[in-house]
Amino acid sequence: PMQPLIVGNWKMNGLVAALGELWGMSQARPETEIWIAPPFTLIDRAVSLAAGRIAIGGQDCHHSTSGAHTGCISAAMLADSGAKFVITGHSERRTDNHETDAQVRAKTIAARAAGLTVIVCVGETEAQRDAGAHESTVTEQLDASLPDDLTDIIIAYEPVWAIGTGRTPTPEDVAAMHAHIRANLVARFGEAGQGARILYGGSVKPENAALLLGQPNVGGALVGGASLIATSLLAIAAAA
Ligand code: 13P
Repeated sequence: PMQPLIVGNWKMNGLVAALGELWGMSQARPETEIWIAPPFTLIDRAVSLAAGRIAIGGQDCHHSTSGAHTGCISAAMLADSGAKFVITGHSERRTDNHETDAQVRAKTIAARAAGLTVIVCVGETEAQRDAGAHESTVTEQLDASLPDDLTDIIIAYEPVWAIGTGRTPTPEDVAAMHAHIRANLVARFGEAGQGARILYGGSVKPENAALLLGQPNVGGALVGGASLIATSLLAIAAAA
């Protein structure tokens, strides 16, 4: 199987001093594939420091290329800063910024047009899982958030209740959801759906990385808290 991809999402964390951790991550074994999404303010410096050993990306982008959108960053700006990828549809954006599937799709299309690989996030809340609606929720998100083809698209399954909580689904639950996502992608996109990478995210730590990443259809991890420290991210990458 493909080498797992380990993506660190720093969220709203990271002052200039945190670049020391990024440098530490860049010392990973060359066969390890690590991508980091620092805050926008560090992208330019992170790109220089990572020197191509780690791909640097954004955590979000606007769907327009430019214009009167105070405080927003376009995909073209990310690409211009040396970013190679962007995350869209993270649950914190869907919740805090009320982003809809349609907006996530528009951002995803814009990001790809700017030459970025896009990590599109989906995942159910605890209430949705308790109601047995986790698969239908993810189906709806996939159907409405993804563009018409999967070129340069990575899916990340992040159950909302596992994010930053220290709780994870069982390996069986992860395998079941990733199989569900795979089936959805194959039904819609055929061969491309078979090859698409599906990452797992939510409380991935060095201690659980091997088990979670060892499940079928799990092509890597999207890591929050444990991606801030080089030793912990490198331990996850080594376990994967
Ligand atoms: P944690 O790894 O902190 O649970 O965050 C996961 C996440 O949201 C990554 O995008």
